[in-house]
Amino acid sequence: MRASWIEAALIAGGAIIGWYATRRWRLSAEAAIAPRGPSRDYLAGLNYLVNEQPDRAVEAFLRAVAVDQDTVETQFALGALFRRRGEVDRAIRVHQNLIARDTLDPAFREQATYALAQDYQRAGLYDRAEKLLTELATGGTYRIAALKDLVGLYELERDWEKAIAIHRELARIGKPDHPSAVAHYYCELAEGARAAGDPAKARDYLRTARLEQRRFPRAALVRADVALDLHEPDDAVRLLSKVPVVSPQLAGEVLPRLVKALKAAGREDELAAIVAELGRDGRDVADALAYAAILTGTLEAPALLELARGFLAREPAIAELVGALLPEGTAPSDEQLRRLAAAIRRQAQRAARFRCAECGFSSSGFFWQCPGCKHWDSLKPLSPTDLAGQVAGARPR
Ligand SMILES: [Zn+2]
Repeated sequence: MRASWIEAALIAGGAIIGWYATRRWRLSAEAAIAPRGPSRDYLAGLNYLVNEQPDRAVEAFLRAVAVDQDTVETQFALGALFRRRGEVDRAIRVHQNLIARDTLDPAFREQATYALAQDYQRAGLYDRAEKLLTELATGGTYRIAALKDLVGLYELERDWEKAIAIHRELARIGKPDHPSAVAHYYCELAEGARAAGDPAKARDYLRTARLEQRRFPRAALVRADVALDLHEPDDAVRLLSKVPVVSPQLAGEVLPRLVKALKAAGREDELAAIVAELGRDGRDVADALAYAAILTGTLEAPALLELARGFLAREPAIAELVGALLPEGTAPSDEQLRRLAAAIRRQAQRAARFRCAECGFSSSGFFWQCPGCKHWDSLKPLSPTDLAGQVAGARPR
């Protein structure tokens, strides 16, 4: 809190120095008459800030900046500061106050409009934000920023059709931040259609998702879900068997569905062969499947148990614990391995299991889009060693 006010005082102090510099330059250029200092309100505001009386400071600043055209930049700095501090009402007042001026330079008006749109978003007034952003998105300096904000807004409102339209516009004029976003939007629409009992429509959306993004694992997962709904388990098995090779980190999403599909098809005994085949594709895939098996408790098949044995032996924290408990040179028995896996599973249920590679957000459930930074496909499963560290570092409740 103190740091924010020091920051505020620095902004205000900088603004006053700037104000003096401009004034002095103008005075010498125009050989004007008597010099004028900053307004009394302005100095009072600064004084309140230094003395940590934020409310009185705000009122003084609003009075001061309302009458002085030179202080537009200060208003922007203060507005941004209020928004950062979560004082959105004050930020809105500052920016509305700016826009209300007839004499405001058009570039400043655009800047104030974008700032106000950000205030509205922060305040959760999405319809007002949408209106301003749609205006700004037609052209000008803030076009790309406004389009990106609109995408975020429609994602938040789960208005996927509008998100698709804006994302396409963004793709036409510049590089979008998340190239796979449109394919995800179609998958969202497909999941909606599936939930509404319209598998044909869901499949239409999924076809479009695949046109947007080739080898798109989420589309394969939803297609498998639709196939299971329609009692076509063989199709589901075929679709699911391809996913771990493309995206090993999705093994946790694939394995329970695969078990379900094989059961529905009466082909349970094929699980071991499918998993062994997938495991041959590389250690990443084998480890991901082993870990998914541990976390979902799918260790009945000997092939999965063997994958889990190899995987846990390579996990430093787990291998060390096992080594300390067993006589030297012995490997854990099948039963000990199952109990170890069950302990890890219980631990995982108590801790965050996924972490965003972009922002570090962690969660116990899986999300296609990070709730923290809104990146797509950035949540990765934490390893058992990470989990052990998390539980060890957690404070007892
Ligand atoms: Zn994130």
